[in-house]
Amino acid sequence: MASTKAEDDLKSPTCPFCHGTDTEIISLFGSQVMTMQCKCRACGSFYEASKY
Ligand SMILES: [Zn+2]
Repeated sequence: MASTKAEDDLKSPTCPFCHGTDTEIISLFGSQVMTMQCKCRACGSFYEASKY
C-alpha cells in the first residue's frame, strides 16, 4: 500500500484467454498483493493479472 501511483492510471490488462481488450477490473487485490482480479467482457472469463 506504499505505492504513490494513482489507481486511476491502471488499465485493465488484456484477457489471457481471448486476448480481448474489453476487460474490467473486479478487484484491485487478488490472491496476492501484486495481483488484481479482472473479468473479460468478451469471453466472460475471470482472471488475475499482475499490476506491475
Ligand atoms: Zn477473454
